[in-house]
Order: sequence, then structure tokens, then C-alpha cells
Amino acid sequence: MKVIKIEKDQIDDELLAQAARLIREGGLVAFPTETVYGLGANALDREAAKKIYAAKGRPSDNPLIVHIGKKEELEVLVKEVPEAGRRLMDAYWPGPLTLIFPKSGLVPDETTGGLDTVAVRMPMDRIASCLIELAGVPIAAPSANTSGRPSPTLAEHVYQDMDGRIDLLIDGGPVGIGVESTIVDVSGPVPVLLRPGAVTMEMLEAVIGKLDTDQAVLGPVSDKVKPKAPGMKYRHYAPRAQMILVEKGLETRETVTETINRLAAEKMNQGFRVGIICTEETFDQYPKGMVKSLGLRSKEETIAHNLFAVLREFDDLEADYIYSECFPESHLGQAIMNRLSKAAGYHMIHTGEDRE
Ligand code: AMP
Ligand code: MG
Repeated sequence: MKVIKIEKDQIDDELLAQAARLIREGGLVAFPTETVYGLGANALDREAAKKIYAAKGRPSDNPLIVHIGKKEELEVLVKEVPEAGRRLMDAYWPGPLTLIFPKSGLVPDETTGGLDTVAVRMPMDRIASCLIELAGVPIAAPSANTSGRPSPTLAEHVYQDMDGRIDLLIDGGPVGIGVESTIVDVSGPVPVLLRPGAVTMEMLEAVIGKLDTDQAVLGPVSDKVKPKAPGMKYRHYAPRAQMILVEKGLETRETVTETINRLAAEKMNQGFRVGIICTEETFDQYPKGMVKSLGLRSKEETIAHNLFAVLREFDDLEADYIYSECFPESHLGQAIMNRLSKAAGYHMIHTGEDRE
């Protein structure tokens, strides 16, 4: 796999044109976006889309997000643009918001996992938007990780997962946001939040009023239910360790840090390697274990930015168990808790409980 380095504020057009050519010719190119690194291919080319699934080891019914460079490029991909979609595009494109529309005949089934809808986003990142413009085709791009692993927020993460599997990696440095785009389905009668992200529920409601939230955002999806966002049924964002979230319980005076220290000590005594995910405020309160801070609790942007990198660091450290603090679920906290919950397989306990 070839790697090219591109500076965001001084984009080398000639270098990027090579990447664009690879996309046009049906190749696979990983590139930075403002959310996470994407694994891109020509969205209108069936064979290229199939290569994405193979490189990621991704189940073929888990659809891809199509990235465009200009709002006008949406029209040919969709059957119609419902009013709620129009309003959200006007408010938050370019940016970390993916919208689901009824698809046009131009978009192959391979790109949408066989669905009759298509997910579209217009990224804000300059490298991403220049690449799309130079390629001259919409770019299908899921996160550039092996299926199931935490999404890549650094070029090194992509390298770890994709070396030998793709044609080119564009190293544009660390991404800005660090969690994947918000997904809203505007193809039905009521808009539905399918995945929380940096365009928060509060920001969505400010533009279109109340929207529904898909069951899969709220909790685990049972085998019987067919989720609207097919990706949601798969294990996601997961570190190799078993992860447990610890939330303050009402019926005990034990604090979150005390519970984590107690459970971590038990596991360490049994010979396991234990990781702890905390914040700057509590870092000094964990004397033992492999302790990593996500940043200041009051700075949600920092927490989101560091989350996936910390999960990957615990893979490198070969942690067997990871105990993590929780976060309030408003604003960006909803996306943070969504990713943490999925990484933990929804395994959450309350302080004072003596088992994980
Ligand atoms: P990724 O970019 O790797 O985070 O994956 C893209 C995700 O977008 C998928 O896992 C789906 O959850 C969602 N998605 C893409 N297309 C659709 C669609 N047509 N309908 C519902 N969800 C979609
Ligand atoms: Mg993904």
C-alpha cells in the first residue's frame, strides 16, 4: 500500500490527483474526513464497492455512505429530497451529517447493501472535498477500519488495519471530530435518528423539530428485529478486551472511582491485564492498572476526539478487561455514550454492585 502525506492547509493538487485517478479507475483509497478516516471507492462502480467490503471484512448487507463534493451532486443519486432533508442540508452541509434518501437507479445495490435507500454526506474536510472534486465521481466510504474494530482517527490506525488490502492511504494527520457522522433517515414520513454524532439531537431539533430515535440507538438490537441502519446489528467499535461501563447507582455511597478500583483490583489479583478509561479530573484517583484519560470531562469535543484512539491503545496493550467512566447523554455526550455502550456490548453496571 502506498502512503502519501498531504497538509490540510497546503493541499498538493498533483499528489491528490493521483489518488483521484485511482478512485476513477476502480481502486481503494483511504482518506481523512472531519469525522474519522474513510475507505473510499467510486460509489457508482459495483466492482469497486465490492472491494470495500472485502478489504474491511464487512458483511455485504451493511451499506456504505456516499460522499459528495457539492449539494448539486445529490440530485442524480436520489429519487426525491424531502423537505426535512432539504432543511437539514441547508443547515449542516458540508459537515458531519449523513442523510438517508430513496435511491435513484444510478446507485448500485452493492453500494447500498441491497437497500432501496442511499446514505449521502457532504464532508467539510478540505482533503476529502478536494479528492471528491478531482475524482469527478461520488465516493462511497465507510470507516477505514477492519469490520468491528474501533474507527480510525489517525493515519496509523488505517495502516494497522488496511496495509496490503488497499491501493493508497492519504495521511492528512489526526481527524477533527473523532466519532462517525450523525445519521438521519429522511426517507419516511417522520425523520429518524439512526446514529448520534457531532450534529447533535439538539441541533437537529432546532431545524426540523422533534424526530424519532431508532431502537438501535437506545439499546441492543435483538436478532428478531431488522434495524433500519443495518450496521447496527453488528458488534461495533469494539476493543479486544471485555469492556464494562460504570455508572453512579442511587442506592450506594460508593463512588464510580471506588467501584472501578475495587473491580479492577479483583481482576488484577486474578492475573488479568486491566485498563481504566477516565477523565483528567479523576486520573489521579486510580493508583493501579493501565489508566488512560480521555481529557477534561467538561470538554466533550476532546473526549469524542480521543475515544477510539484510546480503545485501540488498549488493544496494543493487550488488556483483558477495561473499566470506563460514563458521560451525560446530552449534546455530544449522546454520541460518546453510544460508542462506549457498543464497544462494551451494552455491559453497564452501577456503583456498589459487586459483580461485573
Ligand atoms: P460507517 O461509515 O462504517 O460508519 O458505516 C456506514 C453506516 O451507515 C452503516 O453501518 C449503516 O448503519 C449506515 N447506512 C448507510 N446507508 C444506509 C441506508 N441506506 N439506510 C440506513 N443506514 C444506512
Ligand atoms: Mg464504521
